Amino acid sequence: MYYTSTRDKSIRISSAEAITKGISAEGGLFVPTEIPHITLDDIKRIGTLPYTGRAKEILKLYLTDFTEDELNYCVEGAYKKSSFSSEKIAPLYKISDKESILELWRGPTCAFKDMALQLLPYLLSVSASKTLKDTKIVILVATSGDTGKAALEGFKDVDNTQILVFYPVDGVSPMQKLQMTTQEGNNVSVCAIKGNFDDAQSGVKSIFTNSEIKKKFAENHLAFSSANSINIGRLVPQIVYYVYAYVKLLANEEISEGEKINVVVPTGNFGNILAAFYAKNMGLPIGKLVCASNENKVLYDFFSTGVYDRNREFKLTSSPSMDILISSNLERLIYRIAGGSAEANRSLMSQLKENGHYEITDSMKAQLDDFYGNYASEKETADTIKAIYEDTGYVIDTHTAVAAAVYKKYTDNSGDKTKTVIASTASPFKFTRSVMDAIDKAKYDSMTDFELVDELSKIANVAVPQAIEDIRTAPVIHNRVCDRTQMEETVRKILGV
Ligand SMILES: *Cc1c(COP(=O)(O)O)cnc(C)c1O
Repeated sequence: MYYTSTRDKSIRISSAEAITKGISAEGGLFVPTEIPHITLDDIKRIGTLPYTGRAKEILKLYLTDFTEDELNYCVEGAYKKSSFSSEKIAPLYKISDKESILELWRGPTCAFKDMALQLLPYLLSVSASKTLKDTKIVILVATSGDTGKAALEGFKDVDNTQILVFYPVDGVSPMQKLQMTTQEGNNVSVCAIKGNFDDAQSGVKSIFTNSEIKKKFAENHLAFSSANSINIGRLVPQIVYYVYAYVKLLANEEISEGEKINVVVPTGNFGNILAAFYAKNMGLPIGKLVCASNENKVLYDFFSTGVYDRNREFKLTSSPSMDILISSNLERLIYRIAGGSAEANRSLMSQLKENGHYEITDSMKAQLDDFYGNYASEKETADTIKAIYEDTGYVIDTHTAVAAAVYKKYTDNSGDKTKTVIASTASPFKFTRSVMDAIDKAKYDSMTDFELVDELSKIANVAVPQAIEDIRTAPVIHNRVCDRTQMEETVRKILGV
């Protein structure tokens, strides 16, 4: 299996190289040259294995340059029972006849990012040992809240790595901010930027593709890589849990062999739903891929019109991890529906960079039938949290609520009765204020953030996650704030180059 770039067809590299580089030098994203196939028999066989076994079976199809021993080492290290609050790793919770919630937030930072970011440091260190010698890897992260913490937790004190995280100063929840500013570890730095997530993401991308800095780094035995979902090492582990959810529904006799399921994904950078799209293309019986946006509904508009247009107001919502106007991983879908044409994709991406918008052709539009896009307003999101709590006693976070609200719009419109998996991307404890406001604002308004944590634990009848307990008393270590134009300078200062 080889990887090429969505913007340069002459590139053909191994998975280890793609993982260490993170992003291609000309700004394209790495994609496998073909998508591997699994049969129903494979799916049934994988179904008898524990989560780690399933992960190995899927990963080895994509990371063909990794040995069996290397994969074992990576997967067993990442999905340790002690790091996850459920030994199933990603349990399914049935909330109605049709709908099950896939809890992807049982990892150490309470967000779905852990599913890939617990594994990525292992993949990266094995990859680096194959492709780079005597080089320290510098992980640059732009975060809308959850990636930052999950990457810090995954990479802290990992030999030969250093990690720098940039987050939008007013664009994350109080819990997300505390999780990052209290981070320990001898190789970690955290910096708030005066700007939004898109500013952070484009700042990081431009540092990545700046050949002068790269040269300077190489002289100092440093190399950049990315822990953002542009890294193919993030995407592959995310395919695993869709396969897992399918075999689980099969085992529970919710579906019969080969029966299709729908998948609903609260979407920001288009990484999680892209993994579901890959799973479908591998042969997993998936019907619709429901792409749920919040009020930053650039993807909804794209799916309805074929026009991607980032020229609009950036809104801060109660689902901050989805407050994104430039959805990076969409590029991998564009490349695919352009028939794998790097040229066609490159031209659209330069229009995006120059004018802030592009329109796909009719033949590309015709290939988007797998997707249904819609969005939920702030009120619809809050109403959904309240309704599900009142109906079932189960409390979901704001991001998951966007997905549940959009799913309702989808079934109201289509009457589709297909069994459905809703990806639940964060624990409600990370967004306690918004969640409790949704349930009863008058009652909870005057309480402090941590009083709300205890109250949520009471009403949902679940223990406070360890990650939240940990930040209750932890001292703030990282106070750095910089202008969005000073990111490069900040990186140089921290690394002393
Ligand atoms: C990152 C994140 C998302 C968006 O996922 P993408 O892969 O960027 O589409 C949704 N919900 C939560 C809680 C997240 O942390």
